[in-house]
Amino acid sequence: MFFPCICGWTMTNVASPNDIEHVLLSDRVSENLENLVDQECATVGSIDSWPEHWEESGAIDVWRCPVCERLYFNATGDPSEVVVYKIERKGLSNNPSENRSSESSKE
Ligand SMILES: [Zn+2]
Repeated sequence: MFFPCICGWTMTNVASPNDIEHVLLSDRVSENLENLVDQECATVGSIDSWPEHWEESGAIDVWRCPVCERLYFNATGDPSEVVVYKIERKGLSNNPSENRSSESSKE
């Protein structure tokens, strides 16, 4: 799949493994995944259903643009449901000059 970033870079997951696709797991989703894997391992003795377990557990597919660092949540899902995040700030200092704003990041 090819996916155009707002900055103009074209992201793709054609090569695997790659550094574009990420998986976001909440603590609850992580536990769901562990339970699904444990269940299959206990009944079958091995794990053959990794893709199904990722999806069933509630893991979120996130693509990260290597140029502007925008994040696209559910990039491979319904295009109308994709949520895009852009860096607002880097660093937690109260002195604004010590934090890198999105204005100085690559577009
Ligand atoms: Zn980008």
